[in-house]
Parts: sequence; structure tokens; C-alpha cells
Amino acid sequence: MTLARTWSVGLAGVQGAMVEVEVDMSAGVPGVVLVGLPDAVVRQSVDRVRAAVVNTGARWPLRRITIGLSPAAMPKQGSGFDLALAAAVLAADGAVPAAALDHLVLLGELGLDGSVRAVRGVLPAVLAAVRTGHPAVVVPAGNADEAALVDGVEVLPAATLADVVAHLTGRAPLVRHHRVRVPPPPPGPDLGDVLGQAAGRRAVEVAAAGGHHLFLSGPPGAGKTMLAERLPGLLPPLDEAAALEVTAIHSVAGTLPPGAPLVTRPTFEAPHHSATTAALVGGGSGPIRPGALCRAHRGVLFLDEAPEFPRAVLDTLRQPLERGEVTIARARSAATFPCRAQLVLAANPCPCASAAGDTACTCSPLERRRYRARLSGPLLDRVDLRVDLPPVTRAAWLDGVAAPEPTAVVARRVSAARSAAGERLRGTGLHLNSEVPGRLLRERWAPPRRALALAERALERGALSVRGLDRVLRVAWTLADLAGRPVPDPDDVAEALGMRLQRAAA
Ligand SMILES: [Zn+2]
Repeated sequence: MTLARTWSVGLAGVQGAMVEVEVDMSAGVPGVVLVGLPDAVVRQSVDRVRAAVVNTGARWPLRRITIGLSPAAMPKQGSGFDLALAAAVLAADGAVPAAALDHLVLLGELGLDGSVRAVRGVLPAVLAAVRTGHPAVVVPAGNADEAALVDGVEVLPAATLADVVAHLTGRAPLVRHHRVRVPPPPPGPDLGDVLGQAAGRRAVEVAAAGGHHLFLSGPPGAGKTMLAERLPGLLPPLDEAAALEVTAIHSVAGTLPPGAPLVTRPTFEAPHHSATTAALVGGGSGPIRPGALCRAHRGVLFLDEAPEFPRAVLDTLRQPLERGEVTIARARSAATFPCRAQLVLAANPCPCASAAGDTACTCSPLERRRYRARLSGPLLDRVDLRVDLPPVTRAAWLDGVAAPEPTAVVARRVSAARSAAGERLRGTGLHLNSEVPGRLLRERWAPPRRALALAERALERGALSVRGLDRVLRVAWTLADLAGRPVPDPDDVAEALGMRLQRAAA
């Protein structure tokens, strides 16, 4: 046998794509030729594979070896092809039966000593193998739990190349790995820990119920971060399909939590304001990796001290947030990641970040305005809820001692409100109030005139723009859903009007 082929999987974003690995040997000057758009890491893989084969005790054929990766037009990235390459070389040399490789998919990086190392993106790779009808996948032992999340395929974990050779020759078949059901991770921080801050607690509840992006403004210590961290706990847990989707993103990013391969709760991502566009949205050197925005898919992206983020970086968020996905293009490849995240922005009232009323603050009104203006208008346009948090005074603190509602109680209201909105929006393809376009709000779901009186006066006065009115209507519907009312009443509209920063432009 001088020709052998097997299968591996390449990644484009969070989509796996089957890659056929072919090895041909011929007489001639010994050496290796690699064809089919491999990146630098894949080219180095030949050296790793050779060392692993020799250190496993097998022979490295002294022939002219041509390795083809197809489809040729698809860029191949990363080290996950090593195992398939090694197996195909051994099969072409007759060391293992080539027939055993025909339908097998192999994933894994090889150490020089022949160990099989874990790789990123195993979940989407195994999903691709199942989609294309492959019955079995050999994966690194370290990725076994993640791979076994996928139904309908035999997952065979291997620790070394020698294990794989023993499997292929039939000497010692690899043992199938089954899905391990782990209890869900402990819930995140509880809303019951937040004393005082009635307005802030209300804001995260409304944000959770309507899926609204949220802007929290307030002095340091007002509890902006505490509140933001508690938003994911108010969101419904991820169903199986959503959990696999989010897990696939974290698999490609290399951020799967150890011991819990399936992400079942909405995630919370809080990148620092020094984060680059690549860290925030996606990119990086080597294979394209999803950024914090994508890792927050179906969860929460929290930008603390939002005005400190470079404006150009913030602006890159706007389109992806609108579309629910982001495409990162390179010269020869592009990757698309889903990013249906809920955004929470937080800001201090002024650049010196002193508590409001603190005599130490020397910022002029102009400086304060400039600081605010650093947040781009187009991004803020997507934010329905803008809430001003007062400093936590002693009185408010003592007020809050009367047992604040815990997350479990608030989450039940959120869930009921989401169901009510889902019923109303049935058949529109929309699920949350935050997704309803302004035109539909004004034409199909306009609240009764009497409820709108206050908003209309604000509109006439010029205190509210038409866009601002849309935001107020979205939030008013969420307030009605939370209260179990069929339509918003004047109080809902009044509260929605109040849930906007007084100082920010409507
Ligand atoms: Zn200041």
C-alpha cells in the first residue's frame, strides 16, 4: 500500500468542516511535500508527526511522501491535524491497515514523545463528523467529555499515538467514552446580597425580562458591578441547543470551564477597558478566536468604565450587536461567530471618579460632558435602559436591610414576563421586547392613548426624540409584562420615562 486516506476537521468560526487527509508515497529523494493551504502551524506538524512516530517505536518511511489536505481551497489552521497525518503515513507505509482509516475521523495534536494533546474546537469538529455521517471519532483523552456531548457518534479517546496504532491494528481497541452528566455549576452571585439600590435592582430585573441593553451610571461604590454580575442569574438557563452553541464558542476560544464541559448557564464576560478589538470582538494571531462579545453569546457582556474604552473599539460592537453575529475577515480566511449578547455599560459620572457630592471632585461641567460624550451615540442608541444610580447612603443601606428579594424570586417574575412577551410576539420571529423595531411599536403595539399622554408631552417639548420614544415604549411593554398587565398603563410609561438618564440626550 502506498496510498492512504483518512479524515480530520478544520474550523471556520464555530463551524467544523471535514478535511480529507491523503498520503501518497513514491520512490525518489526522501522528503515530505505538504499541499492544500496549510498555515505555519500545520507545516510544522510534519516535524512533530515524524518525531512522534519514531518515539512510538514505529518506522518513519524513507520515501518521498506527499500529504494532501482537501478541500484544497479551505485554509487549514492549528495543530489538530497531527493525529490524522500520523495515522495516514503509517497506513501508507503498511504499518496499520488502511481500511481501518477510511471512515474514521482523527483529532489531536501530537507531542514529540507521541502523546496526544488536547486541542480547541473539538465540539464543533465532532458535530461536523456526525453531520457528514462518520461513525467514529478519535479524540485526545483531554477532550473526551466535550466530544461525548454529541449524540450519534462513537467517541474514542486516545492518550498516545501508540494507543491509536494498537486500535487500528486490532491489538487493543480504544474504549468508547460516554457522556458524563455533571450537576449544573453553582449559581452565580445572588441579588439578595445587594442592599439598598432599589432603582438598580429594578433596572436589572427589567433588563432581564425584556432583553434590554443597560447603561448604569453612578459613583464608585454605588454597586454597578455587583448589579451587572447578577444579571445572568436572572436570565433563563440555556436549553440544550443553546448550551451546545455557547459551548462550541468556548471550545474554539479555549475557555471551557474544567470539569463542566457543557455551558448550561448564561455567561458573564467583563473585558478590561484596555482590551483590543481582537480581544473584544475576535481575531488574534493564528486561528481566528472569538472575543469577549462572542463568549457572552446568550449571556451578558459587561463593560465597566465604558468611557475609558477607546471609541474605535466600542464602535466595532455596534453592528455585531445589531446582527447577532460577527464576521472576522483575514486575507485568506474568514470566521463568523454568533454574538447575541446582552450589553451592560457602566460609567462614573466624571473622569476623576469621585463619589458625587465629594468635595474632592474638581471636574468642570464641561469635563463631565466630554467624559460622557466618549460613549458613541450610535452604540448608546441600542441601549433601551439608562439608569442613574445614586450613591449608597447610610439611610438607603439601612432601608435595604429589610431582606432584599433573592435571585430565585426575581427570576420567576422575569420568566413569566418573558413568556407573556413571547406569546404576544408569536409568529413575528421576535421573542423579546428589546428586539421589536420602532415601526412595529408605534403601529402594531402602540399602548392606549391615555397611557401615552406623558410621553407625548415630552415629545412635544422636545425632551424626547422619536427614537427615545421607541425606547420608552419597549421598556413600558416589559414593565407591563412584569406586572401581568395586557397593555402598558400610564404608570408603566411614566416609569419607563424615568428609567433614562436625565442628563443623557433622549
Ligand atoms: Zn470629578
